[in-house]
Amino acid sequence: MHPEQNDELGFSTLAIRTGHHRTPEGEHGEPIFPTSSFVFANAAEAAARFSGAKPGNIYARFTNPTTRIFEERLSALEGAEDCAATASGMAAILSLGLALLKAGDHVIVSKQVFGTTTVLWNKYFAKFGIEVSHVDLTDLAAWRAAIRPNTRLLFLETPSNPLTEIVDIRAVAEIAHGAGALLAVDNCFCTPALQRPLTLGADVVIHSATKFLDGQGRAIGGAVCGPKSITDEIVGVLRTAGPTMAPFNAWIFLKGLETLNLRMKAHSANAQKLAEWLAAHPRVSRVYYPGLPSHPQHELAKRQMKGFGGIVGFEVEGGREAAWKVIDHTRLFSITANLGDVKSTITHPASTTHGRLTDEQRAAAGIKEGLIRLAVGLEDAEDLIRDLARGLDAPHG
Ligand SMILES: *Cc1c(COP(=O)(O)O)cnc(C)c1O
Repeated sequence: MHPEQNDELGFSTLAIRTGHHRTPEGEHGEPIFPTSSFVFANAAEAAARFSGAKPGNIYARFTNPTTRIFEERLSALEGAEDCAATASGMAAILSLGLALLKAGDHVIVSKQVFGTTTVLWNKYFAKFGIEVSHVDLTDLAAWRAAIRPNTRLLFLETPSNPLTEIVDIRAVAEIAHGAGALLAVDNCFCTPALQRPLTLGADVVIHSATKFLDGQGRAIGGAVCGPKSITDEIVGVLRTAGPTMAPFNAWIFLKGLETLNLRMKAHSANAQKLAEWLAAHPRVSRVYYPGLPSHPQHELAKRQMKGFGGIVGFEVEGGREAAWKVIDHTRLFSITANLGDVKSTITHPASTTHGRLTDEQRAAAGIKEGLIRLAVGLEDAEDLIRDLARGLDAPHG
């Protein structure tokens, strides 16, 4: 399939067909190339590949044909010029920073990002003289106020985890561009099936392919999508430093992308049913889900997203004891912090993902002791509701 056809094809067609340039064998499924290096016809061809005069594979730390199919397919879905696949979601963020930033540059990161992302910026990038500020995701005035003359990059996730706060991507992109900076959006929670940040003005999209892109909890991987001028720099980092996606993982993610559209719709439909049921439950004091009209940014979510996603937060009366009781009464939900799987998961953020924060930091982040996070999978919603009801309807005490 030729890339120039993209404009005419729908999302699912792109997700199933893009990037597979069949070999002479005529294989129907995408081939896996488990090879570390590639062979040249003669010395002149080797020289031309190494100099870049002739495009082509050299060594699998730089490129691999299976990984290239994944990159072309994800680019098509995000509406990006190109994509560079990485060994993990964290490797994508690391490579982005190494490619774009130098000592003395300033970055603004929303407070509500994945915990390890905060550690990467504050502990590791800071060691090399990159200044980092944190702002509240939804506070546009705070983004504006944090801009400095040396600000190069703004970085955010929307919706946030676990409280599903949402920011207007277009508005933050305008703030970034007004300051001559770039906006990077970690689109792991939505995937391009639900939200396409580049069409809203963002410059770069980051993925943890480990989550919904795979969708079945089988492999670790990541990606950076954006203009070729940036992804070429990322490939330069991968080639030099090595956090490259393995071809077998790329093949798994290709299989994941083929069902992405169907799965994201199904995750969203299941999550909506659970959120509505929880909102009506007398022991639940608050539900965080963008698909509920009570969500503070429901209207923005409707404009910016094609569906509301699979992540639901809710608070139970009775603090940690009551939350743990609900978690421990489930039989279907997996008690784990992972998300983006066909298997539903349940987490107590205050004692796990946010357990290393001080009580004050947790309070500032809005993570209460009674908060439970669900990553709603694709089991039957009625069974998941019964699973939650077991703990929620259990006698008090
Ligand atoms: C999991 C996650 C990451 C990190 O991805 P890995 O593939 O685990 O390295 C980054 N951002 C978000 C939002 C995530 O959920």
